[in-house]
Amino acid sequence: MGFRLPPKKPGPGGGRPGEKARPGGEEEMEEKMEMLEIERSIRGTPRICEKGGGFTNTGSAQIIAGPNGERLKPKAVGPGFACGTHAEFEAFPGMLVIQAGQWRGDYEISVYRIVEITGNWAKAQLIHRFERGEWNVDPPETLREAIEAAKKKARCYHCRRPHYILP
Ligand SMILES: [Zn+2]
Repeated sequence: MGFRLPPKKPGPGGGRPGEKARPGGEEEMEEKMEMLEIERSIRGTPRICEKGGGFTNTGSAQIIAGPNGERLKPKAVGPGFACGTHAEFEAFPGMLVIQAGQWRGDYEISVYRIVEITGNWAKAQLIHRFERGEWNVDPPETLREAIEAAKKKARCYHCRRPHYILP
């Protein structure tokens, strides 16, 4: 069932609209922590979602993976709205969150590892970052499938279904 990996692109640089300003120098990138939004189930357990999809020339996606990049079984799938939330996973420390944004096929990718869950936020460490055509730190081969899934979802026009789950 895996995804066919597209051929590697050289990833040209170039300007992107709406780029988020990042405080702090590039040298601090590896230790950078971010707060990712999570939700709570009806019983109060933390949930994090696969979401996103593509539009005509742009797109963004969030993919959820296990600590070693593996697919996880979602707690819920749906509701199938275009570029909305497509699968909910129980959030736990150690799991990976991969966010990809693309503009005309030019990508920015962040790979986070959740360190701690507090309230409706997951404190996450940025462990790999791709921008302007290169990785700050090359991700291991074990993360390749999940990263490609995030890129594919970010260009999946009006995406309505999960891309990276265990059935
Ligand atoms: Zn899709």
